[in-house]
Order: sequence, then C-alpha cells, then structure tokens
Amino acid sequence: MLREELVFVGTCDIAGHVRGKGFPAQELHARRLKGIGWTHSNLMQSAFGPIFDTPFGTGGDLMIVPDPAAEVRVDFADGSTPEHFILGDIRNTDGSPWECCPREFLRRALAALDAAAGLRLIAAFEQEFVYTGIEDRPAHAYSLGAWRRQGSFGEAFVAALRTAGVVPDSFLPEYGDRQFEVTVAPAAALTAADHAVITREMARATAHRLGHRVIFSPKPNADGVGNGVHIHMSLQDAAGTPVTYAPDGRMGLSDLAQQFCAGILHHLPAIAAITAPSPVSYLRLTPNRWAPTAVDIVQQDRGASLRVCPVFAAAGPAEIARQYNFEFRTTDASASPYMALGAVVFAGADGIARGLALPAPGADSPSLPRALGQALDAMEASKLVQSWFGPTFLEAYLRHKRAELATLTDLAPEELCDRYANVY
Ligand code: GLU
Ligand code: MG
Repeated sequence: MLREELVFVGTCDIAGHVRGKGFPAQELHARRLKGIGWTHSNLMQSAFGPIFDTPFGTGGDLMIVPDPAAEVRVDFADGSTPEHFILGDIRNTDGSPWECCPREFLRRALAALDAAAGLRLIAAFEQEFVYTGIEDRPAHAYSLGAWRRQGSFGEAFVAALRTAGVVPDSFLPEYGDRQFEVTVAPAAALTAADHAVITREMARATAHRLGHRVIFSPKPNADGVGNGVHIHMSLQDAAGTPVTYAPDGRMGLSDLAQQFCAGILHHLPAIAAITAPSPVSYLRLTPNRWAPTAVDIVQQDRGASLRVCPVFAAAGPAEIARQYNFEFRTTDASASPYMALGAVVFAGADGIARGLALPAPGADSPSLPRALGQALDAMEASKLVQSWFGPTFLEAYLRHKRAELATLTDLAPEELCDRYANVY
C-alpha cells in the first residue's frame, strides 16, 4: 500500500503524558523553526484526557518546537510503522520559551544550580512497570522463569532503546506481579529526562507491537508493590570533574553534595506535589513496600527517600568518585520527568545556595505527605517553591492538580488504582 512517513512532535506534560501533533516527515526541516501549533489549555489536559479546569479558556496560540537532540526513529523491522517522534519545547509565537513549558522548568532549575555553585547534574532514571504480556504466576519475583516467559519483549525493548539513542543498563523481572524494571545509562540532566520519556515510550511501543501493554502507574493494584521511578544523581563541576564523593564526608558525600541533598529533604514535603503528583502516588508511598515513607537520607537503604548508593568493584578513588551517586526515590511515572527532576534540582540548588546541613544522625525523620492534598498544601505554603514556577505556571499547575484530586475524591483504593492503571 502507498505510504508516506509521518513524524510526531510532542511534550511530556504536567500529567506525564506525551502529547503533540503529527505531520509529513518531509516537512521536518520547515517545522524545526515553526514547530506545530499548540494552545495554552492543552497544558491542562488531565491524566485521563478531559480538561477539568483551565485558567486559559479556548484562546491563545503556542508552538511545540522539536529539539533535534530528542529525535527518535525506531524501525522495529516487523513491518509496523516506524516510531518517529521528537520531543520539543513549548514556545510563544515569537519563539521565546513559554513560562509553563515543563522542559523549560528543568532548564531553569539547571540554571539555578549553575548560579548557586557552577555545578552540572548527571542523572540516570530507573523505572518499574508491569508488562501485561506475561502470565501472572507465583514466584515471579526476580526469577529466571519470569525472565524467560516475557519472551522477546525484553530483547525488542532493549534494541529499541539503543536505536533511539538511549543506552540500556539493565532489564529485569522485579518483585511485583508481572513487574519489570529498566535502568539506562547516566547522562546530563536534560538529556536524562528526555531519555526517561523515551524509555517509557519505547516500552509502550514494544508492548503495543506484541499485542500487549505496559503499566507505569505508581500503584497498579491496591495490595501489591508500586512502580517506582528512581533518579540517580551526581554532581560535576564546570570542567566535568565529579564532586559528589568525599572519603571523609558523611555517608561519603562532599560538602556540596550534602547541601544539595539537605535542600531536597528540606523541600520534600512541598515538592512531593510535583514528584509524586497524583492521588495514587500516595498509595505507593506506604510502609513495607520498598518505597519511601519519611523525609530521610540513608546509606544503602531502599526504604529511604534519598538513598546513598554503593559503588561496586571500583579500582581506585577516581573510579569511586566517578560512580558515586545518590538516588531520589520519591517519584513515579505520573510525573513528567522534566517536572520531577526540575523540582529536585531547584531544591538541591537552594540547599547549596543557603548552605543547608543534613539532619543530625539519629534525628527523627518527619513523614512524607500521606496524600496529594497534603503535598499541595505544603507547596502552597512555600513561597520559594512557588517562585520556581512563575505566576501563570503556578496557577495552572495548582488548578490542574486540585481538579484531578477533586474528580477522584471518594474512590476506594482499588478503583483509584484501576483508573490510573488504565492511563499510565
Ligand atoms: N517497587 C519499589 C518502589 O516502588 C522499589 C523496589 C526497588 O528497590 O527497586 O519504589
Ligand atoms: Mg526496582
């Protein structure tokens, strides 16, 4: 049949969904400048699709301008249409960045980190999901049987990632029913967030071609473990030298890394509204599920909000310094990676700017917000967190999240899980 290649340009929005528009691939050159048309209220599309509330009405024009560095073209070589999409920036019609662009939010955070101490952030995302193409059998957790029974999904997924320019690190059967995990190689922060989006889409694209789907929802069912997104981070100076590690520092962290982590902990109750941004996120953040429940940093503990990770088989101090990283575990795939990483970086940069100290060893750790409403209240009480957004984005973000919450009030946990499992 006669066919012409199409390309899709999109943004990973407040709801963490990639949305945009398509056009003939041969128009790509022209579209690199003018992008595709978008409107302000597109930002207000809920996790479920409909716009529940918007400050923007039906007026206004914007464009999503593709970033050539975030282009994906993957031919699965199975006769299906290639996956061809490009992530981009939401801009005003004069080409300037739109205040409410999630990717721009991360860029502003990285500029704040640069301004605070001339630092760069390196990040790697570790993401968990359910693959529906495997029968739910007992003893799935980490088993060779589960590994085998997922068939060709893993190999096709890993090949798709590599073709998309994302370097796979590991793929494994996780603890939960039909749950798997993928980790990709570290990259500069903006690229790492692009890669997190691309990783989710490649998992979806692969499962789709096999007649199944993947579920990234933070809590696919009420009585199981959740799907976490863990962001591994390390700091580099402007010359690219790793500055996270100090052999004599607390938990092996340099002063700068301690201040960065202290800033994250200080702002965590408020930024949870950005990093764990859906009602179902808080069903994941419950005890005994390998997910965080407190505002804490612990060395090598998978129940902490911030975990200082081990290094393996490091030959010497330079290799330890290169590998040393800490992991932010209080996020999930209902957050746009740009928003989640942006909030963490803004918080860390503030910790450095103010020289914040980590909580004293043995100090009581406050609990994380137990529900989205509590996190939104904490965010609304923080002038600093609000200043990261700008007035228009702040109002839009809060209305988006409050409306999502209001729509789902009174749902029993099982129903809440089902609703989110359908859309993530
Ligand atoms: N599934 C856990 C979570 O929700 C994480 C398990 C692990 O340590 O990888 O974050
Ligand atoms: Mg895991």
